Amino acid sequence: MVDKQVKRRSPTMSAARIAQAVELMAREYGPFESERRLPPADEMVFTILSQHTSDINSGRAYARLMERFGTLEAVAQADVSAIETAIAPGGLAKVKAPRIKEVLGKVLELNSGSLDLSFLAEMPLAKAKAWLRQLPGIGPKSAGIILNFSLGMPAMAIDTHIFRVCQRLRAIDAKTGADKAHDIMEAKVPPGEVFNFHVAFINHGRRVCRAQRPLCGQCVVGNLCPSRKQFMAKIGTKAGAGEKTPRRGPGPIPHIPPEQA
Ligand code: SF4
Repeated sequence: MVDKQVKRRSPTMSAARIAQAVELMAREYGPFESERRLPPADEMVFTILSQHTSDINSGRAYARLMERFGTLEAVAQADVSAIETAIAPGGLAKVKAPRIKEVLGKVLELNSGSLDLSFLAEMPLAKAKAWLRQLPGIGPKSAGIILNFSLGMPAMAIDTHIFRVCQRLRAIDAKTGADKAHDIMEAKVPPGEVFNFHVAFINHGRRVCRAQRPLCGQCVVGNLCPSRKQFMAKIGTKAGAGEKTPRRGPGPIPHIPPEQA
């Protein structure tokens, strides 16, 4: 008989443990409150503006766009070069201006000439996601941001920070890619907790579980983390000690442009 070696995948973090991690992070970086929401089409444009740039720069670019054109309907009618000039403070304007024009044009085409996407809130989550995913340049992350942040629907949006923390905490296994992670994490996080999960994990990834030299010695979820030992051994047993203590308490909520004066 051939002795087959069966490789077993190590188990991933349970839903209960993830809930515990969110609670610990919320105590550290919370409370997470957001009264301010953009309408969904605005959130979509803001999401494009926030690609590969800081929240501050994308906030500036969005403010400039609205100052210059007043409404998204006017942006949809504008020349790409005029959009490019308006969003220049956000960076990558040459790439983002045609993207904005194209996506707004497609929404108008598919939605009977309207940019009002509030009808998505009446759809089942999977259908609302599928509707957004047919738009050019809208992947699972952008669809999740629009549905969760604008319409309060329980859609996941896994960005690079959240993905890294999920991998290190083994909420997903090492072979799971970012796109697939959306569905897995949506199944593990209760609908009412998706917003808290997002803001907790993104804050943790930005402040403590950084890509380079994570501050494992100062990590509030270190006791739940199967990667901690490995990082401590690699970086030094006092990983994080001697580094500036990460900022506690609430920071700006991601994906929401700062209020303009
Ligand atoms: S212990 Fe280290 S690797 Fe694990 S979550 Fe904390 S900072 Fe990230």
